[in-house]
Amino acid sequence: MTEPFIRAKLSAAERSFRSRIAQIASGQWFLRGTLSERSSKCGKPNCRCANGPLHQSVYLVQSQAGKLRQFCVPKAWRERVRQAVSDYQELQRLLDEVSELEWKRLQERKP
Ligand SMILES: [Zn+2]
Repeated sequence: MTEPFIRAKLSAAERSFRSRIAQIASGQWFLRGTLSERSSKCGKPNCRCANGPLHQSVYLVQSQAGKLRQFCVPKAWRERVRQAVSDYQELQRLLDEVSELEWKRLQERKP
């Protein structure tokens, strides 16, 4: 299959998916994983968490090479990491959309 790639031949929907993919890929952070919010006691007897509100932590959990790994996200990074996780998910969804369109072209043998 050496049919050239001609953007103008794509549907408007597919061009729009691809533009958004390019925009995210070239201008945003992206990170695969899910965020998990946890609250815990640190164990220090005089800490406010002994009788008051617990410490809030945010973990990034990711499956890598068949194993789960996690990382406690520092406060200063939380917003950036949240955005990166959300942008990764959008990128993944858009790639799936474009892949599905290519699947249909293949089935219909219409390059
Ligand atoms: Zn504490």
